[in-house]
Amino acid sequence: MNDLTKRTWAEIDLSAIRHNYHAIRSLLPEGCRFLGVVKADAYGHGALRVSQLLQDEGAEYLAVSCLDEALELRRGGITMPILILGHTPKEYTRVLIENKLTQTATCHAKAVEYSEEAVRLGKVLNVHIKLDTGMSRLGYLCAGDLFEEGVENIIASCALPNLEFEGFYTHFAVSDEPDEDSRVYTKEQFRLFTAVLDAVKERSGISFPIRHCANSGAVVSYPETTLDMVRPGLLLYGYGDGGTLGLRPAMRLVTTVSTIKIHEPGTCVSYGRRYVTTKRTRIGVLAAGYADGLPRLSSNKCSYRIEGAAAPQIGTICMDMCMVDLTDIPAAETGCEAEVFGPNNDLCALSDAAQTIPYELLCSVTKRVPRVYLNA
Ligand SMILES: *Cc1c(COP(=O)(O)O)cnc(C)c1O
Repeated sequence: MNDLTKRTWAEIDLSAIRHNYHAIRSLLPEGCRFLGVVKADAYGHGALRVSQLLQDEGAEYLAVSCLDEALELRRGGITMPILILGHTPKEYTRVLIENKLTQTATCHAKAVEYSEEAVRLGKVLNVHIKLDTGMSRLGYLCAGDLFEEGVENIIASCALPNLEFEGFYTHFAVSDEPDEDSRVYTKEQFRLFTAVLDAVKERSGISFPIRHCANSGAVVSYPETTLDMVRPGLLLYGYGDGGTLGLRPAMRLVTTVSTIKIHEPGTCVSYGRRYVTTKRTRIGVLAAGYADGLPRLSSNKCSYRIEGAAAPQIGTICMDMCMVDLTDIPAAETGCEAEVFGPNNDLCALSDAAQTIPYELLCSVTKRVPRVYLNA
């Protein structure tokens, strides 16, 4: 830290992302493409920096959730293929084509709209078809009685002019959950996916160069689903492998001890007076709160790493500050660093305490927290 104010910051260790990328890559069969998911500002890590790294390391594809995220990458000089996972209104077909972006077709009606626009422009739009195999979110329906209709819709879409159908994909709902019921569900999603592909091929001769379905959970637990490309997000940032891949957390959220005071027993701490000291307590005030991304739901239920020890967080987390008990950490002084999460303070323990998942906490580190890139 030199030119920053040394209040609260997020260190992004690019060598950890590089390490994680190669650790994931080493699991893949030869020829399998790697799509790095960099939506939501690369899960808070900075989409442009992460994309540049993946481009340099030889990844084949990127994915974002919307057009604005894709354009940020193009403006920043990213030239590799980018898939937009979510919806883009048909009015933006020209922008998609001009920026060489790949759009997801989520149903036949939308494929028709994109085709009409592309014909009008006299250009071709690159498209990946998305199949809904059990997420009940985006994608062509094909489960149960809708199988025949789904197959026919896909064949009809592929006959539309000025669309290039490069890819075909689906998304798993519970590939990261180890229980037997989830395993059965995931396998059924994959079975349906391949059954639709086979039926389309058999009836129309159409096949797709890039078939993909493996998110992080599937990359780790269902190697049979890797197909032509994998689509991990969370693994890149160091989580979701259950320790099996030796991934390294890429983000370290750090704040500082701004003040230390000693309070007598019976002292109320913070809003709502939800913590009352039971002994003489040495309390540190940290310069980070929920407006930086500390989950307020974890108030009184988590600890941060200070001077190599776990400092219990006490009292309700405020917007810009929170308090910790430093009684048992005499080495902690004003100006010390406190690791909220990172290599030395488990993000998953914090997300459990906040009744959420690591994804949400990574995405919740706010704009006012400067990102500091290490090992570029
Ligand atoms: C977010 C997302 C991914 C990545 O999921 P992880 O669990 O982070 O690997 C993959 N595919 C789609 C369609 C997504 O929306």
